[in-house]
Amino acid sequence: MSAPRTLAPSISCVMPAYNEAANLPRVVPQVLQALRALSPQVELIVVDDGSRDDTAAVARALCAQHAELVFVQLSRNFGKEAALTAGLDAAQGEVVALIDADGQHPPALLAEMLAKWREGSDVVYAVRRTREDQTRLHAGLTDVFYRLINWGSRVHIPPHAGDFRLMDRRVVEALKRLPERNRFMKGLYAWVGFQSTAIDYEPLPRATGSSHFGLRGSFALALTGMLAFSTAPLRVLTLAGLVLSLLALGYGGWVVVEYFAWGIRVPGYATLVVALMFFSGVQLFSIGVLAEYVGRIYDEVKQRPNYLVREQTGTGLAAEPAGR
Ligand code: UDP
Ligand code: MG
Repeated sequence: MSAPRTLAPSISCVMPAYNEAANLPRVVPQVLQALRALSPQVELIVVDDGSRDDTAAVARALCAQHAELVFVQLSRNFGKEAALTAGLDAAQGEVVALIDADGQHPPALLAEMLAKWREGSDVVYAVRRTREDQTRLHAGLTDVFYRLINWGSRVHIPPHAGDFRLMDRRVVEALKRLPERNRFMKGLYAWVGFQSTAIDYEPLPRATGSSHFGLRGSFALALTGMLAFSTAPLRVLTLAGLVLSLLALGYGGWVVVEYFAWGIRVPGYATLVVALMFFSGVQLFSIGVLAEYVGRIYDEVKQRPNYLVREQTGTGLAAEPAGR
């Protein structure tokens, strides 16, 4: 355990919001109230991820009411991972928490997280007890994904842990040093390490609206995670190539033996067609997997920023304490 920690550190809370105009007026005061109970120095950073509804107007209005509120508007929809990154960059607290804008993450848990931080944890993450808000297929595929991504990997990504978490400043600085464009945050949290503690919770139902991560969105995110954190697909291809070559060699030998030992003339037409199609398929598939990696490499070398800010309102923790 490291140096003893202050009882009431300054706390930043980051809340990514995409089309959450209906939820913010209820969720923001709830979270603010929970934060104020924990420390005299708090800020809540609402990141509008290019919403198409009134999220920006609602957030600005809330900013006028609450001095602790900071509003960051991105120039378009960059995705939740980018919105979180923008929030982490803007956060100034000694401790930074991440929470959803849809009311699914109970703010009461922040107190428990902070208590664990005081005891010496650098990261306290919430693990959902149930996945009842997902279909059985979706939950099953999520399980398969975590098993695959953690297979033979040095970095273990805890399954069912989301972005709802509280992190020490050191962890935030570590995350900010990771420059990649393909940001799979759940992987990045695991990659930086530090002493982590899990607490479990029951996710609340979404206040209004519906999840932005359906089966398709989840699949895209899973692919990003897989490609960014595992080279297992490449290894599988190498293995498959090796096994197939050995099989082909063995079969070739067998055909020769057949011919000389029993004089069997091989009626090879069907075999030839099937083998040709099979191997073309394998090759195309392999090139596809390679291309996915190459595409990500292309994303990285372009060095485009992960997000662009259109507007920032409110000073949060940077404000003079007297003026608050
Ligand atoms: N979100 C975002 N950008 C997006 C999609 C979602 O900032 O492109 C935010 C959203 O407003 C919410 C959080 O990310 O605060 C989680 O999204 P959602 O509730 O749709 O996902 P789920 O809870 O189903 O994982
Ligand atoms: Mg949600």
